[in-house]
Amino acid sequence: MSNDCLFCKIIRREIPAKIAFEDDQVLAFHDIQPAAPVHILFVPKKHVDSVADVSVEEPVVSLLADRAVKAAKQLGIQSGGFRLLMNYGPNAGQTVHHLHMHLLGGAPLAHL
Ligand code: AMP
Ligand code: ZN
Repeated sequence: MSNDCLFCKIIRREIPAKIAFEDDQVLAFHDIQPAAPVHILFVPKKHVDSVADVSVEEPVVSLLADRAVKAAKQLGIQSGGFRLLMNYGPNAGQTVHHLHMHLLGGAPLAHL
């Protein structure tokens, strides 16, 4: 937990968010500026700065992907397809320094 981290504040319910999924390790909430009809952020409850700080012993990225795929199935957007992505650093436009995976779907997305 980090005191001044935005996503830690959402995890502690100090800032409101539209929660989409929660278990003991992961919280998922709708992005405040959605870039697709479904745009959900999956975050580990334990603060990790970024994908560059992930240890191979802790499968946190696959944990987020697992929860995102399950949510995509539940929301009925799996058959149409979806995108999972993580931004790192200024060139990718990372704005929040708490590891998060974007789930985007529900409509055709601009191809990368
Ligand atoms: P990134 O650009 O990968 O660091 O993603 C950060 C994302 O967090 C952006 O898509 C923002 O729209 C989103 N975001 C910022 N503040 C909030 C908030 N209070 N609730 C939900 N999403 C947020
Ligand atoms: Zn945090």
